[in-house]
Amino acid sequence: MNNPTSKYEKMNFRFCGTSGLQLPAISFGLWHNFGSVDLYENSRKMILYAFERGITHFDLANNYGPEPGSAEETFGRILHKDLAGYRDQMIISTKAGYYMWPGPYGDGGSRKYLLASLDQSLQRMNLDYVDIYYHHRPDPDTPIEESMLALDHAVRQGKALYVGISSYNSEQTREAMRIMRELRTPCIIHQVKYNMFDRDIERDLLDTLKEFGLGCIVFSPLAQGLLTDKYLNDIPADSRAAKPNGFLSKDAITDQRRAQIKKLNAIAQSRNQSLAQLAVAWVLRQETVTSALIGASSIEQIDDNLKVLENSELSTEELKQINDVLQ
Ligand code: NDP
Repeated sequence: MNNPTSKYEKMNFRFCGTSGLQLPAISFGLWHNFGSVDLYENSRKMILYAFERGITHFDLANNYGPEPGSAEETFGRILHKDLAGYRDQMIISTKAGYYMWPGPYGDGGSRKYLLASLDQSLQRMNLDYVDIYYHHRPDPDTPIEESMLALDHAVRQGKALYVGISSYNSEQTREAMRIMRELRTPCIIHQVKYNMFDRDIERDLLDTLKEFGLGCIVFSPLAQGLLTDKYLNDIPADSRAAKPNGFLSKDAITDQRRAQIKKLNAIAQSRNQSLAQLAVAWVLRQETVTSALIGASSIEQIDDNLKVLENSELSTEELKQINDVLQ
């Protein structure tokens, strides 16, 4: 790190709901491109570049890989080899909620699973604590109270500073927050999908988050790469849609989708920015959104996305044009 303070001048920080924790407007997720199947040197370059540019928040989960767990191992290795001494300048999150190991204790939302998984994540990253620990998704077979009490316990054990919930709907969020308030647990953040092609949270969740003073970090703001110029004409061989381990299906790129992407790309060009930058500006326009949680496969993509910070205001007319395309 040549200039240890300049990164903070380049980044915008926003308070996470009514908490005292500030997150960068752009955070970085390790769902893809950090597994044991990926090139370590590329993963390492991206983490170092992101941090150098003011992205202080790195988001993981127990199952990120592949192999599941290997993204946490990769991140831990980079953290201890290259970023030793910077732990207090970083916000590191992880989660549990999806399948992780065989049997009834390696999936879902039980106290058994959430607390065992956190111990495993800490071991893989070689950390004493994470900054934020999430329940990754609601589990219809476990009472919300049990999952919330497990998160509360993680905080009281000193293994998580804050906790959060992910992909809970409005009603589930209300129930979770009623319990967390009673327990006085620092549940400060909701992680949920939001992008131009998936506006579900506008229905009622954003209002609920505001009501409870919860921060909101939105995942897949680029719709896994659809909201970039990558798929305008074809499906590049090195793209998520073409890779065997990618979660983006080729079937998502229909003719109708591509026609929308082309129109959105033209709006971005009229603003002298890339479609990726427009897509990030569009999610950040919501005052309840604390941070856009992007992924990337190269430092060039991170660099492109960060340029949104120089041009993130959207006029009423531009928002109308975007709405017309999305109708
Ligand atoms: P994005 O929508 O930002 O998609 C990232 C992908 O888009 C990249 O891997 C890359 O794909 C492509 N891309 C990024 N920038 C550019 C650019 N400038 N130009 C062209 N292509 C670009 O987010 P993700 O879907 O990756 O999700 C981000 C994070 O959110 C995850 O890492 C994870 O931390 C979190 N998440 C949480 C979930 C939850 O349930 N809580 C679920 C999903 C994600 P390519 O490989 O094709 O180059």
